[in-house]
Amino acid sequence: MNVLVINAGSSSLKYQLLNMEKETVMATGLVERIGDKTGTITHKKINGSGEEKTVIERPFPNHKEAMHLAVDLITDPEKGVISDKKEIYAIGHRVVQGGEQFNTSIRINDSIKQAIKDNNPLAPLHNPANLVGIEVAEELFPGTPNVAVFDTEFHQTMPPKAFLYALPYEYYKELRIRRYGFHGTSHKYVAHKAASLLGKKPEDVNIITVHLGNGCSMAAVKKGKCVDTSMGMTPLAGVMMGTRSGDFDPAIIPYLVKHKGMNVDDIDNVLNKQSGLKGICGMNDMRDIHAKAEQGDEMAKLALEMFVYRVKKYIGSYAAVLGTVDVIAFTAGIGENDDIARRDICMDMEGLGIDFDTEKNKGRFGSPQAIHKEGSKVQVWVIPTNEELQIAQDTVATLS
Ligand code: ADP
Repeated sequence: MNVLVINAGSSSLKYQLLNMEKETVMATGLVERIGDKTGTITHKKINGSGEEKTVIERPFPNHKEAMHLAVDLITDPEKGVISDKKEIYAIGHRVVQGGEQFNTSIRINDSIKQAIKDNNPLAPLHNPANLVGIEVAEELFPGTPNVAVFDTEFHQTMPPKAFLYALPYEYYKELRIRRYGFHGTSHKYVAHKAASLLGKKPEDVNIITVHLGNGCSMAAVKKGKCVDTSMGMTPLAGVMMGTRSGDFDPAIIPYLVKHKGMNVDDIDNVLNKQSGLKGICGMNDMRDIHAKAEQGDEMAKLALEMFVYRVKKYIGSYAAVLGTVDVIAFTAGIGENDDIARRDICMDMEGLGIDFDTEKNKGRFGSPQAIHKEGSKVQVWVIPTNEELQIAQDTVATLS
């Protein structure tokens, strides 16, 4: 059984074709700069002996054209992996914002598309693009079921005390202002994987999931259910990120308006694109920051210290929320590859039951790896995330 996973952005389209019996990836692709004068598709055919890459440069006026070429490549006699698109059982779509309507993935029909549209104001950059992906798939794969898998659904189990802001309550009722949280498929995948690595069911363990990529978020997962997460109504909140501020005093906004003459768009741009690691040291790629810090760059060192400190603080607060922590699980680009950040985050937390093993921690891991000492009360793991597999699994589960 093959499932196609689609993640449509405003000017990009990512796809992955998975074989669900073997849980393997057959092909992946990324189309970039859709709508520009020239675009690129990078398609990879994946088999046991490695991958075969095809790069084609040409304009893609819209997502339909992009998807057309992707389907041609997937079914190409040489570059492809299936002979007919009918061999695709279902299509799973990443949809960023499901609001409060969706606490689970769902088969797409007209009313679901309308519900996704109704959430556009909450995710103006993502939901409209996700919908385009859905409509193109419906057109190109008539009769094949489409399933929406929401980035927010895993976090819908948060209780009101965790998801409400201490703002006038009517803002929640009228404008749906509340914490939704994001990266849900990653937190779910990692939490379930962590439980299985311990030989337990998700409902028998408490886990802090730490997703550190360009965007960073954490979740407190109690007995398989998310009870709190660091991102908020938008992905700006929580820990410090590549270019996003994370938490800060909201009164700074009116202060900036008064003292720097900034308007709403200026502030939005600064908080999302000019803050975080980049705001402190001018760089947002962790590899560059480490290289500079090693050369003695004080601002790079400061950015690293701030990043680590904020993740540490969230671990402490989620430990308090969970009462008992069985596992802390690191994932995504920084979480999976940056042993220095992991070490500095976990250092000096013996009081919380974390006995970290700096030797086991060294290196980058393509598969799950324990990085705690034998007997540590809290286990610490690196677990590579697999959002596409989670979306594909949720797609199959939704349809069966
Ligand atoms: P996205 O949120 O865009 O999916 P990723 O999960 O790919 O991002 O993570 C990107 C981040 O991971 C970048 O900050 C990058 O520097 C960092 N990263 C990737 N490899 C390494 C590495 N070997 N050491 C430190 N950081 C790394």
